[in-house]
Amino acid sequence: MVVASACAPQVHGPPKPADYPRTRPELTAYRETSRYDDVRKFLDSLRVLGAPLAFGSIGKTSEGREIPYVIASRPFVATPSAARALHRPIVYVQGNIHAGEVEGKDALLALVRDLTFEQKPNALDSIVLIAVPIYNADGNERFASQSINRTEQNGPESVGIRANAQNLDLNRDYVKAEAPETRASLAMFNTWDPDVFVDLHTTDGSFHGYALTYSPSLSPAAVFGGLYARDSLLPLLRERMKTRHGFEIFDYGNFVSDERDLVADTSVREAWATYDPRPRFGTNYYGIRGRIAILSEAYSHDTLARRIASTRAFVDEILSLVAEKSASIRSLTARADSLPLAWGRSPDSLQLVAVRSELIATPRMMDVLKEDLEKTGDSSRTQSGVPRGERRTGRFRTLRIPVYDRFTSTLDRTPPAAYVVAPQDTGVVRLLRLHGIRVDRSDTAWTARGESYAIDSVITVPRAFQNHHEVRLKGRWERGPQRLPARSFIVSTAQPLGALAVYLLEPESDDGLTTWNFFDPDLRKGGRFPVTRIFDLVRRGRVLNRRSSASATQPQSPQE
Ligand SMILES: [Zn+2]
Repeated sequence: MVVASACAPQVHGPPKPADYPRTRPELTAYRETSRYDDVRKFLDSLRVLGAPLAFGSIGKTSEGREIPYVIASRPFVATPSAARALHRPIVYVQGNIHAGEVEGKDALLALVRDLTFEQKPNALDSIVLIAVPIYNADGNERFASQSINRTEQNGPESVGIRANAQNLDLNRDYVKAEAPETRASLAMFNTWDPDVFVDLHTTDGSFHGYALTYSPSLSPAAVFGGLYARDSLLPLLRERMKTRHGFEIFDYGNFVSDERDLVADTSVREAWATYDPRPRFGTNYYGIRGRIAILSEAYSHDTLARRIASTRAFVDEILSLVAEKSASIRSLTARADSLPLAWGRSPDSLQLVAVRSELIATPRMMDVLKEDLEKTGDSSRTQSGVPRGERRTGRFRTLRIPVYDRFTSTLDRTPPAAYVVAPQDTGVVRLLRLHGIRVDRSDTAWTARGESYAIDSVITVPRAFQNHHEVRLKGRWERGPQRLPARSFIVSTAQPLGALAVYLLEPESDDGLTTWNFFDPDLRKGGRFPVTRIFDLVRRGRVLNRRSSASATQPQSPQE
């Protein structure tokens, strides 16, 4: 599934910049973006030049294309164990998840080349970089005019599509993991366990004054990497992008005057508001894994050349800052992994997991840059991506307006010692394991103290989204002895991905497995949810599966 091929370290010294391979935009004065074959050829040229990189594939798309990755680090590493032995943060940067949003792909290729051949010390001496430049490879190859594929973007003329070849939006697939691309990236997350995940996009929407907007994981369940990225990393990155590169950047958002339903309070006439906290989005998801995630959105109304420059500078600054903060980031990772191991043993260690949330009601007032458009007086098109009959003025106003940049929990759940999944729900268990969550199995029936969920109503969204009618449950947990049949699946929360297990399995989560129809056959009004909460594992039935190393820290039951 994950193939790495190491190349021989360079023997004749590094190539001169004149001999570097060029990306498609560099070769075409930024009129064109890379096709899949351009990416392959570019990576092959790096290999031929003896670049000390590991080349591999994270897996195959539904049309059979390999999705290439490159690992850059000094010293050279090619395997997860070699990377871990360096005791450095691992940073995973992904381009092209929405294949019309092209600059992440091209910026990442150029950055890997330049950092790798650079002789002076740089971030590669202190981190391990995993670059996945063309994640949605199939979507990239559906080239068409940007006036069809990317209506709000300022070039290039031909770009790929948003969805993959199965017409799935990969940035809505991180919970249900239906696309082979998602399954491949989850496998990468599980094997390499990156400390930081960066996802590169282009905006749609408001005319603002920023070369790039960014977001941490917005899920309130992302209590480790989410808060650290928001409060410690991103403010510094914003400052450095301005002072070192001359780029104004800001928290991702849109003006409420452009998108009315961003803020529920209808008395708010103008504000700046972020998007959505649910883990169907990759960076939100990655935060619930206890790690740092950063969404990057280059400004769609900038030229391709400027979008590549701002994205490249942003990624470069992220790598440098992670290198600088290496010790704090690694200890954050260690804390995120060790904290849940005490769940179910010591009541003091329990940490609530936010499973539903809403936009904050108390925004801060901040300065936000807005670009003025003016009427042309006719219906002409002045620039690709600008509405007919309007033109950009290059004049920016500073608005002092409310900024809604975060969500707050509306429903928290205390992790039980374990969730027990009914024996028939094997599809659920396969998915949990894809996410890297450990699932055990009991071979005998047993009775445990716990709670079962009584379903009061099953609400199904009438309109299909990504081929699903999303489900929401209302009901209540009821305490009492739970009789659990033989062959039940046991999901202990005392594992590094304990919070993710809680989020995915709780029946009322705003984006859990219930939402995506995994439990549909078992759901009816007045019935019981097929997952039970168990308060202790002491009297559980014998576990058949070979125990994984992570479970060694769990309390041992007398039967084992
Ligand atoms: Zn996007």
